Amino acid sequence: MFNKRTKIKQLLNEASIGKETTVMGWVRTFRNNQFIALNDGSTNNNLQIVVELGLADEATLKRITTGASIKATGVLVESLGKGQKVELKATAIEILGDCDPEKYPLQPKKHSLEFLREIAHLRFRTNTFGAVFRVRHALAFAVHQFFNQKGFVYLHTPIITASDAEGAGEMFQVTTLPLNNLPKQSNGTIDFSDDFFGKATNLTVSGQLEGELGATAFSEIYTFGPTFRAENSNTARHLAEFWMIEPEMAFNDLEDNMNLAEEFIKYIIGYALKNNSEDIEFLDARLKEEEKSLPQDKRSEFGLIEKLEFVLNNAFERITYTEAIDILLNSSHYKKKKFKYEVSWGIDMQSEHERYLVEKHFKRPVIVTDYPKDIKAFYMRQNDDGKTVAAMDILAPGIGEIVGGSQREERLEKLETRMKEMHIPAEEMNWYLDTRRFGSVPHAGFGLGFERMVLFVTGMTNIRDVIPFARTPKNCEF
Ligand code: ATP
Ligand code: MN
Repeated sequence: MFNKRTKIKQLLNEASIGKETTVMGWVRTFRNNQFIALNDGSTNNNLQIVVELGLADEATLKRITTGASIKATGVLVESLGKGQKVELKATAIEILGDCDPEKYPLQPKKHSLEFLREIAHLRFRTNTFGAVFRVRHALAFAVHQFFNQKGFVYLHTPIITASDAEGAGEMFQVTTLPLNNLPKQSNGTIDFSDDFFGKATNLTVSGQLEGELGATAFSEIYTFGPTFRAENSNTARHLAEFWMIEPEMAFNDLEDNMNLAEEFIKYIIGYALKNNSEDIEFLDARLKEEEKSLPQDKRSEFGLIEKLEFVLNNAFERITYTEAIDILLNSSHYKKKKFKYEVSWGIDMQSEHERYLVEKHFKRPVIVTDYPKDIKAFYMRQNDDGKTVAAMDILAPGIGEIVGGSQREERLEKLETRMKEMHIPAEEMNWYLDTRRFGSVPHAGFGLGFERMVLFVTGMTNIRDVIPFARTPKNCEF
């Protein structure tokens, strides 16, 4: 058996002096031919390994370079050096894999996030990305824990779909047809009958519609999977492939929906703060350091941990879309013509408007409800005013929209009328409409963009830095 090792995180936590232990990991630095800083990814804290004179021959010492992998056995002793309580006094060192320092791109110095994005296959080995992806893991685990504790069923909705009615964004087509010789119908359009599924198919933009089928049987379900949008938005908040969490609840109205979303967000933040405090402290310090180079007015008002604790301990603001527009119209920002995009009832709020509400006006997460029906999807429940729908978006400081949700239209007739108005082919949606035909119930749900949540909790500013391998326009490396 090879894997007779203790993880460094465990070793540092227990700090049992005198214990004989084996560790394995990658060398971060090697000082004075004597002190190895070893990291195995379990924590950002390195284990110091002391290689006493005469333990290893000259040739072996030369191979202990930044990035090399080693196995070290020794005894845990109290450390006299600064920065660590314990260190491993080595009795044996074995090189597992060499790493040519001339060629290894990760030097023991600060690299820019842009550079690290180009070597994303190696960036997990840095402190920043070590912390980010351990936090990402913790958040994912907390998502499942939260819903499992509440008795929700985790439903795996399909990745490939033939329905394009969601209207959430541009879709990626899925086909096995020969692109250089597409079969055509007599009217010149593509003949999909020869395609793999015998019809046009796409990658899913959302699992919601299928989620509703689950909710109207299990009462409460959630999905957590990849979604795809071919929208050409090259921003710091959009990916072409991102992960979304979509709970869907029968017997819920818009208020129940908001309450659940707020509880959920607070739960997963609380989980990460409690279980990943070291990583979040590291990211907090990183952010402070990063912001030192920014002008005063561009710096965050709060530190990362302060911000997360504030969100945990305060109720989200809840306002209607109509109130939001009034706030914008009455703002000095608007009067001084500082918004780039127009403000009037009926607009799809731009990121600058959302961020004004959250960062300048309320200074906390805001839930905006009851949007104009014309800027929202067909399935949202129509309000009695005939103009708005029971939608809700949650806006977060520094991020903008993090959740989009609604109470769903459960009244068959109203839904069919709305679909007609929006030119959605009802024949193709019979399976969906069946939920309204056979025991329809008030129900609601929302979608939370997982990467936007990870951005919020890690304090990172570009969404490319919180997913292992980002897919964005003109970029599909690794
Ligand atoms: P936006 O206006 O920011 O593009 P949206 O209105 O298209 O978002 P929804 O269709 O409501 O978003 O999707 C639900 C959630 O999924 C959003 O609140 C957001 O957190 C996330 N999301 C949407 N598009 C993307 C994307 N391209 N990359 C990453 N996350 C996204
Ligand atoms: Mn979008």
